[in-house]
Amino acid sequence: MDLRNYLNLVESQNKLLHVTRQISPLFEMANFLKKTEGIVSVFENVEGHPNFKVVGNTVSSRDLVALALGVRKEEIVLKMADAMKNRISVSEVHASAPVHQRQLKSLLELPVLWSYPKDRGRYMTASAIIAKDQETGQQNISIHRLLVLSENELVGRIVERHLFNMYQKSGEELEIAIVNGLHPAILLGASTSTEYGIDELTIASALLGEPIPVTKGKTVDVRYPAHAEIVIEAVMTSEYVDEGPFVDIAGKYDIVRKQPLIKVKAIYTRENPYYQALLSAGEDHFILMGITQEPRILNSVKNAVPEVKGVYLTRGGSSWLHGVVSIKKRAEGDGKNAILAALAGHPSMKCVIVTDHDVDIFDPIAVEHAVAMRVDWSKDVIIVPWAKGSSLDPMRDPVTKTNTKIGIDATAPLGKLDEFQLAKLKDEESFDLRKYLNDEQIDFLRTQGIIE
Ligand code: MN
Repeated sequence: MDLRNYLNLVESQNKLLHVTRQISPLFEMANFLKKTEGIVSVFENVEGHPNFKVVGNTVSSRDLVALALGVRKEEIVLKMADAMKNRISVSEVHASAPVHQRQLKSLLELPVLWSYPKDRGRYMTASAIIAKDQETGQQNISIHRLLVLSENELVGRIVERHLFNMYQKSGEELEIAIVNGLHPAILLGASTSTEYGIDELTIASALLGEPIPVTKGKTVDVRYPAHAEIVIEAVMTSEYVDEGPFVDIAGKYDIVRKQPLIKVKAIYTRENPYYQALLSAGEDHFILMGITQEPRILNSVKNAVPEVKGVYLTRGGSSWLHGVVSIKKRAEGDGKNAILAALAGHPSMKCVIVTDHDVDIFDPIAVEHAVAMRVDWSKDVIIVPWAKGSSLDPMRDPVTKTNTKIGIDATAPLGKLDEFQLAKLKDEESFDLRKYLNDEQIDFLRTQGIIE
């Protein structure tokens, strides 16, 4: 399974748009992607880059993620948690790899988007960096924004996590492979937060249910997906240069920092390659950030209450700061324990609502309804001041750098759940409108968004 298989699958589900009119990667594509979230767009006529197609909004809805992983939307978190636990090793390809079909001379040949007007320049945003720990031989894959500086130089934001550790351990001279044009499972795997030493490609393989074929780098000692669309073999050097400003997940310009200069050794692509774009602070971005944290919350709450139904980092909370957890309540107080566990499971979370298993946690109205009906504000709120939370929280205390967290227990009193449920019409779930309509009327209701 690679990006192309996924695009075929999306097309078969009527969620793919081929854009044949000319469009520029400078500002135009970003706007286009923002206005078409929820469907995948392929730009076939890219101004200034006739040899490339650009694909964007690859995972711009939970429905698309569910499609990519072959599960229902509600099962994504379980699938992610399972893949993180039951990983599958990658397999090595010894024949020629598709990603080596063509060679490029310059980074400037890539149709890299410039998205927000005050971004420092053209940023690659859906690209993953793979590197190897020289001591253990273990690889790491993680997603980083990368600014194109020249024909053969880049600079990325390398947060002080696993890749940065490897870079420091290597004496600040680290061979890397930057891959672009990836199946959603690889993007999701690369976005997970696991412990150091776990190769996230093995999580991606488990998400796909089969080993991802990898190939050896030609100029770097790194193995990378053989079916990526583009690979940039490069070295992270000990020279530091300015990176940023750039709009990040909070939707605001991130500051300028000194980051390691990356020097390119070789660039390879497939025949007729796709370049994969991702709009920063767009749905794609929120989904990759949020979905990959939900399994941590799930595991933590599972440890505190017997049965967890669902976990969702809400869109209104930037898929990062606010969450909803649904549980099957077995004892009075389960809701409170679930709050404590959920806040611990994702330390950046500022507010969590815990509710019963009958609530559709993806529906903000259903969640608010549960809060309205099942909360007694004198008993069902836990406030935790002076905690360590997210630096993305604009209300973080500027002096102590601490945050206030809140949990709301919106579970019904034990054993009384049926008193809190809305009355249903007779056969409400199975009632089929279409039976009473002709084709024209069905089409009309479709344009109104009433029928799918
Ligand atoms: Mn890692």
